[in-house]
Amino acid sequence: MTEIRSPIEWAFFVNQVLDEAFGRERHPMSVIEVARMFSASKYPQEPIAAVEGDDLPGFQGALIPDPGRRRGWVIIFNSAIPSRRRIRFTLAHEFGHYLMHRALRPRGFHCVSVEDSDPEQAGDRLEREADIFAANLLMPIHDFREHIAPGEWTDLNMLSCAADRYGVSLMAAIRQWLRYTHQRAVLAVSRDGYILWSEASESAKAGRTFFPNVWKETMAIPGLSLAAKREITSYPKDGLPLPKGVWFPDHEVVEMAVHSDQYEFVISLLMLDFKA
Ligand SMILES: [Zn+2]
Repeated sequence: MTEIRSPIEWAFFVNQVLDEAFGRERHPMSVIEVARMFSASKYPQEPIAAVEGDDLPGFQGALIPDPGRRRGWVIIFNSAIPSRRRIRFTLAHEFGHYLMHRALRPRGFHCVSVEDSDPEQAGDRLEREADIFAANLLMPIHDFREHIAPGEWTDLNMLSCAADRYGVSLMAAIRQWLRYTHQRAVLAVSRDGYILWSEASESAKAGRTFFPNVWKETMAIPGLSLAAKREITSYPKDGLPLPKGVWFPDHEVVEMAVHSDQYEFVISLLMLDFKA
């Protein structure tokens, strides 16, 4: 029977076991090894019997009952995904479904990962839970905070280092950092001149008198922002200070931006608190 734990509690539990077995300097770990070892020792009657790449048009990954055995499960990832880091996130997501949800859907899951999509539109509850599990499994917050403290100002260099440490995309690292930082910061993801979605740290959301939570309507990216400057290929990684009226009417920001050619979007990290 699957125990009832929240996604964060599940990730904490697995990480505790891994910390004890392998120490804190174990990142990035093989998600395949972790899923197979952990499932075999905790649920020997229904382990994850295999993890394999396959043709999965339209999906990132799947968790299905093992067709070759009576009780095991198989994780499949879309072998057309070009990024190993995205595959790692997908595998962790499917491992989350296995731990938390397999009893709810005995026929398994076919998933479009929401790792890089609008958190407000992110599929059903089980999909969101699997993503929260994946983020916390790969990037334990107790470890992340030791590299970038909650009160600390950060930039894309530091967040890229964190992404390397955990073997995740820069976007995944920024989103996890936003979940615990005390800095007022906003992530805005845009394509073709329009914001697709955005996400804010708790302290940025708390300042909603000047900051309209997260943009709810289609909004063009400001003409003076870094995100609008497609022709520039290299930016100062610690950001460009922009005056009031560029991103927010009443607030200056420091903007850092990365253009992702592979996925055709622009990631802008807006810091509302300036470096001390
Ligand atoms: Zn899923």
